[in-house]
Amino acid sequence: MNTGPTNTGPATTGSARIGTVDRERELRDNLERVRERVQAACEAAGRPAEEVTLVAITKTFPISDVRALAALGVRDLGENREQELKAKAPDCPEATWHFVGQLQTNKARSVVRHAQVVHSVDRSSLVAALSKAAVAEERVVRCLLQVSLASYGPDGAATGIARGGVEPADVPALAAEVAAADGLELGGVMAVAPLGADPRDAFAGLHAVASRLRSEHPGAGWISAGMTGDLEAAIWHGATHVRLGRALLGTRPPLG
Ligand SMILES: *Cc1c(COP(=O)(O)O)cnc(C)c1O
Repeated sequence: MNTGPTNTGPATTGSARIGTVDRERELRDNLERVRERVQAACEAAGRPAEEVTLVAITKTFPISDVRALAALGVRDLGENREQELKAKAPDCPEATWHFVGQLQTNKARSVVRHAQVVHSVDRSSLVAALSKAAVAEERVVRCLLQVSLASYGPDGAATGIARGGVEPADVPALAAEVAAADGLELGGVMAVAPLGADPRDAFAGLHAVASRLRSEHPGAGWISAGMTGDLEAAIWHGATHVRLGRALLGTRPPLG
């Protein structure tokens, strides 16, 4: 799934060969530029930079890149497919692994085994599957509810194409299920900005959903929002976790 807008920000072309000294230098430069972007966005929003955690989304990139990012001090890594998660996570056990993709219930056990945070909880059946898996694996999994965001024009009509998740009106009920489930911990919300709309409107809406959630569940303060093309808008609207792929790793190779 290509979830990014076409704007690639200051990402490089990813031209250096993987596993080489040049590639390590490229990753270091990208990371430095991303940290400057996050810092500038935090300053603009009047927020301390420590409030924002950078999650490197390493999908489609090789384990050598994952190791290089970890060596550069990136502690949070993410994947959007179970197969890639289980292939990479054991090679980098010191990292906190995040699962950010659509999740089928039959993959819940594997994801729970390898990831500490699941950003894409969007339905009751998945809550049940994750809870069962967490109990079986004797782990506690932090769950973020993926919220479906459309932007609304002045006439109230949706202007963007929503990217999946639970409708805002259904968040309280799903949150209560997660909060009551064994082995799960309610962490907050996640969203992907809608296609073809201003991400600022969407992230403002997400912030409102997140505030309501936190008033009922004080421990659920995470807002996972912002990717390479829209991290500034997300940080402006309170993102605590930005999920960055291309800005760090360059243009993704085509899915094989
Ligand atoms: C791929 C992906 C990202 C990273 O997107 P970039 O535009 O490469 O920064 C973030 N979130 C999710 C859910 C993704 O699948």
